[in-house]
Amino acid sequence: MAAPVDSPDAGTGAATDATPDPETGAAPGPALFVAMYHSVGDPTDDPYRVTVSPERLDRQLGWLRRRGLRGVSMADLLAARARGAGHGLVGLTFDDGYADFVTEALPVLRRHGCGATLFVLPGRLGGDNAWDPLGPRKRLLTAEGVRQAAAEGIEIGSHGLTHVDLTRADDVTLTSETEGSRTVLAELTGTAPAGFCYPYGTLDARAVEAVRAAGYTYGCAIDPGPLGGPHALPRVHIGQNDTGVRLFLKYRLHRLRRRAVREPR
Ligand SMILES: [Zn+2]
Repeated sequence: MAAPVDSPDAGTGAATDATPDPETGAAPGPALFVAMYHSVGDPTDDPYRVTVSPERLDRQLGWLRRRGLRGVSMADLLAARARGAGHGLVGLTFDDGYADFVTEALPVLRRHGCGATLFVLPGRLGGDNAWDPLGPRKRLLTAEGVRQAAAEGIEIGSHGLTHVDLTRADDVTLTSETEGSRTVLAELTGTAPAGFCYPYGTLDARAVEAVRAAGYTYGCAIDPGPLGGPHALPRVHIGQNDTGVRLFLKYRLHRLRRRAVREPR
């Protein structure tokens, strides 16, 4: 970790990522790096630490770009990596589908030429984050807002119907949250979503199997442990306090730890 963190070419770590996937024997490549965001707005009242300001997002994306990295959607990231072209790409994900995605995040993404994946809750469209008891109420996108994001080239994925912990869901709920939300989103956007994102990042083997069986190509988790794989991809929380040095450390340490995660073929 001797590289100067502020030099323009520091931090991609490409030279250290030559280990083939031990499980699949896949070609060597840089480890998957996926940033996890939620809300973009005023972060002053934010007990769950889910909000970054538009200015901070702007600086974080600028930081990536100065290191030769560009944020893209999960679909684009995984497709590029499958053809060996993922170098320099990182995944950008936004959970919950807050209304501020369209008003605050999208202009910043556009300015940096970035794509992203937005994981929405089709059972709460136009509602709010009622599942966070302590946090300030934040509006969620309406159906029209989700369509608008999709029309702007944002990948729409499912976060389930209503933000339920799938490890505590009965069979009927598990099916409706995974398969049911996929059907609703297919009707809403005209495209069946490829990606699912586990609410709270909680998952077990049964939840992962339900996501796979519902037809999703990939699933986003946070720290999936031994369940890691195409339907439980790890992500890194990026918050308001993540400025250059902290971003650099998260990027490098995560990639060193995560070389062996299997990806969709
Ligand atoms: Zn969530």
